[in-house]
Amino acid sequence: MISKKKAGRKRTRNQTKKDFVQEELQKKEIPSVQKTSETEDIQFQVINPANLEVIGSLPIFNQEQVEEKIRYARETFPSWSSLSLNQRSRELLKLRSYLAKNSEEMISTICLETGKSRMDALTEVLTVCESIDYVAKQGKKHLKPQKRNTGLILAHKKAYINYHPYGVVGVISPWNYPLILSLTPIVNALMAGNTVVLKPSEITPFTALKVLEFFQKAGLPEGILQIVTGKGSTGAALVESMGTHMICFTGSTATGKKIAETCAKMLKPVILELGGKDPLLVFEDANLKRAAKAAIWGGFFNSGQTCISVERVYVQDSVYDSFIHLLMEEYKNVRQGQENNFPEVGSMTSPGQVKILEEHYEDAQKKGAKILVGGIRQENQKGYYHKPAILVDVNHTMKIMKEETFGPEISIMRFSTEEEGIALANDSCYGLNSSIWTGNANRGKQIAKKIQSGSVCINDCLSNYPVSDLPFGGFKESGMGKVHGPEGIRSFSQIQSVIMNRWFWKLDKELWWYPYSEKFYKFMDRMMKLLFG
Ligand code: NAD
Repeated sequence: MISKKKAGRKRTRNQTKKDFVQEELQKKEIPSVQKTSETEDIQFQVINPANLEVIGSLPIFNQEQVEEKIRYARETFPSWSSLSLNQRSRELLKLRSYLAKNSEEMISTICLETGKSRMDALTEVLTVCESIDYVAKQGKKHLKPQKRNTGLILAHKKAYINYHPYGVVGVISPWNYPLILSLTPIVNALMAGNTVVLKPSEITPFTALKVLEFFQKAGLPEGILQIVTGKGSTGAALVESMGTHMICFTGSTATGKKIAETCAKMLKPVILELGGKDPLLVFEDANLKRAAKAAIWGGFFNSGQTCISVERVYVQDSVYDSFIHLLMEEYKNVRQGQENNFPEVGSMTSPGQVKILEEHYEDAQKKGAKILVGGIRQENQKGYYHKPAILVDVNHTMKIMKEETFGPEISIMRFSTEEEGIALANDSCYGLNSSIWTGNANRGKQIAKKIQSGSVCINDCLSNYPVSDLPFGGFKESGMGKVHGPEGIRSFSQIQSVIMNRWFWKLDKELWWYPYSEKFYKFMDRMMKLLFG
């Protein structure tokens, strides 16, 4: 940043800080992309993590600029919210079709700023197409007024609920799935009649801008989606603004706690989709080959940067050695590289995450863990390529078994009894997803009831997320509230209860209105005893 002192001149009264800095920079003729240190509070650079080249730079929206976008979203709210559910559904289906037809353009943008493999990027687009389809079609059912029972005492009345939009919803998204985690909440919020201001991750903002472009090209009403780019300060401005009526945040537990605090002070509703440290439990009666393939895929998919990645693997003693052998065999099928070669694993996305991964490896090795394979940077690649790793001899004193690692690795630990396996799986502050492997489906269902996580996959992993009808959201420090399913669709509405008289009820007054009398008191008391005594 250029301080007033450094620039040698003071900002005039009418000049915004941004204008002032820009003017000073122009005078100094500093090229826009290289001048990061001096412009870091007005713009930020986006890097391609697969080759470390600069993709571009974008503005950091300040509070004033965020408020302006919120104002636009508020202006659009009356017209958008007054559309019928059928009309809103049709608009969203236009977006779904446009996205499916132009998927390559979106996939290329995602790959460019995440370094994902092309297949991983395709699954993002596919999942989101399914999700838009679900919300647009099922939203018509789940958001229409619902009849409610008036009970025994007020049987002569009828009641129903309306789903009211909140107004402007602030969506804040992370970098690991820049399309799904931006567009899914957006579509849910819009279907409920809200308008949206999105703050995408500073690491992957171009996917969000492509989403906005697709909104325009698909012909959706202008202004229903606004985007503010920037870092944490921009996200905080969106949360702190009196102009946003609800927040949907997906990101780390640490940031989620800060947002929850601000929202609590403002009594602003918030959905928090946070971190995970998901266990995969292999019992001795499991199909070991399938379980090993799942552990490799579930741990390395999207370079392990999935909130529901398999991070902790617990294997029953009697099958431990065979399972490790199968894992090592399966590992031979994992190729890592540039997206255009269609590898299984691409690069990692964030340099900060690479650092955390390496710290976890170092801590684990110091405490006695062994890395059987991988766990090193790919020195022949320019980007953030970290060779997927399998670790053994780990325990719960290690960061790699306690904290979210969010990288391409799986750590394997033994257990002897079912109770011990379940206790180890539950020994975490997180509770997002988990995966149970057993040859007995009933046993799987019983174990699922004892697992403290928002979702459970039996003889599978990660497959719950793309099922749009299944609510998704964590227990414990993995979050609050649900996305997906009817519960997710309704999360973006406030419930209004309405009660009214049945059309034939034309009495001048209700029995219990004034005046009161002893006779009426006794009648009511008798009725209570008759109905409920
Ligand atoms: P992050 O918390 O660092 O950032 C997420 C977003 O919040 C970014 O857009 C960031 O700019 C913004 N932000 C940062 N500080 C803020 C503040 N004080 N106020 C408002 N906004 C702020 O998370 P990340 O590193 O981008 O994403 C990775 C994390 O997201 C992991 O922990 C992962 O498990 C989690 N995640 C959860 C889910 C889920 O559905 N539960 C899905 C994907 C990722």
